[in-house]
Amino acid sequence: MWIDTHCHLDAGEFDADRNTIIADAQAAGVHGLVVPAVECATFDAARAAACAMPGGAYALGIHPLYTPRATDEDIAILRRAVERAMGDPRFVGIGEIGLDFFVKTLDPERQQFFYVEQLKIARDFDLPVILHVRRSQDALLKQLRIFTPRGGIAHAFNGSRQQADMFTERGFCLGFGGQMTFDRALQIRRLAVDLPLDALVLETDAPDIAPEWRYKQRNSPVELPRIAHVLAELRGMTLDALSQATCANAWRVLPRLAGAMAMVPGTGIESESLLSARSLSDAPGAPTSPISPSQSGSH
Ligand SMILES: [Zn+2]
Repeated sequence: MWIDTHCHLDAGEFDADRNTIIADAQAAGVHGLVVPAVECATFDAARAAACAMPGGAYALGIHPLYTPRATDEDIAILRRAVERAMGDPRFVGIGEIGLDFFVKTLDPERQQFFYVEQLKIARDFDLPVILHVRRSQDALLKQLRIFTPRGGIAHAFNGSRQQADMFTERGFCLGFGGQMTFDRALQIRRLAVDLPLDALVLETDAPDIAPEWRYKQRNSPVELPRIAHVLAELRGMTLDALSQATCANAWRVLPRLAGAMAMVPGTGIESESLLSARSLSDAPGAPTSPISPSQSGSH
């Protein structure tokens, strides 16, 4: 079993064949999937995409690339949406949030404003965060030290070993996906091999960051097992061991994901790792049964 911890399944690129992609991903063994929203206008779509798949989950947040058109009021909208989503077992955290210092047209101060305000929401609801990290490792860490969310995932990580360790010390796993499949991605490959196994989760970032064998084409969660295969080879370990470890890691850093995946029939995920991940989850008032989408917080 595999978990795609970062997949924009709500993106327009999947409108024509979303259900086929989901069926193919499940057939390939992908039984958990997290859809991070990118702006308030996509909250409903992220939840709907998650609901299209047993084991689908979503996060709510404002992505740094979407900050130019976000307004201050969006922070209040996010807070209200999170309040409502806390009763929805498919809701797993705040994301995708972060800082992007690669795209020069973005205003760094505006990005910081949205990043910090969303860290406060994560802290207030004791939720993990899913971080967009692009040339911004140290700036992200600086605020994590101040606002101390419970951890989460630093997605598409591409920093130094020292920076990686500072994220893992703060309760984060690092997301590895398509970039790792390129021979020339030396730093990412070195990290993927050298980091302790409990620091790693798998992701596609579909439809973006296609693996080497789909270069410049649309990426999809169907590719996750093959990406996992690359990581298992790099680390010289079996697919089974990698599957178990990366699933347990995902449940540890996104505790509510274990609850979302408990809805998956017939995958045998009532394993010890799932049960222990559940007992770690202290989400207040999480219901034991799914509630209908209409109850679970559109804005
Ligand atoms: Zn993303």
